[in-house]
Amino acid sequence: MADCIFCKIIAGEIPASKVYEDDEILAFLDISQVTLGHTLVVPKKHFRNMLEMDGEAASQLFARIPDIARKVMKATGAKGMNIINNNEEIAGQSVFHTHVHLAPRYTENDDLKLTFVAHEPNFPALAELAEKISKA
Ligand code: 5GP
Ligand code: ZN
Repeated sequence: MADCIFCKIIAGEIPASKVYEDDEILAFLDISQVTLGHTLVVPKKHFRNMLEMDGEAASQLFARIPDIARKVMKATGAKGMNIINNNEEIAGQSVFHTHVHLAPRYTENDDLKLTFVAHEPNFPALAELAEKISKA
């Protein structure tokens, strides 16, 4: 897709530090390296984000992730990893070509800040929402 930076990387029009490639998928180091070894895994076909993908395309993408993630872990010696996918601007998406972040973790105080603020469970509301989602 014209003007998509990841399509340009896939086409070889701009450089990237590639760590894995096959006919459907490319993985390369994120330019910002939030943590050492921060890697992006992308489908070669352009999709705006996961919300636009069908099950088959998503399966191809996710099928590669465990092996690539283990390669990154092995090469970096990280202690853990966050695997993250952002969809739309409100969720932190800044490049609108589906990508999955592999962010190796070394210490709790590294440069990845990810906080889930828990709330007291409201079980009737949960049941109602689950019903609504299941019927959507
Ligand atoms: P998002 O915020 O959309 O989830 O993540 C986009 C990521 O793409 C960011 O972490 C950013 O550092 C990375 N990025 C943006 N432009 C480039 C680029 O030209 N090359 C590489 N390797 N990464 C990029
Ligand atoms: Zn693209």
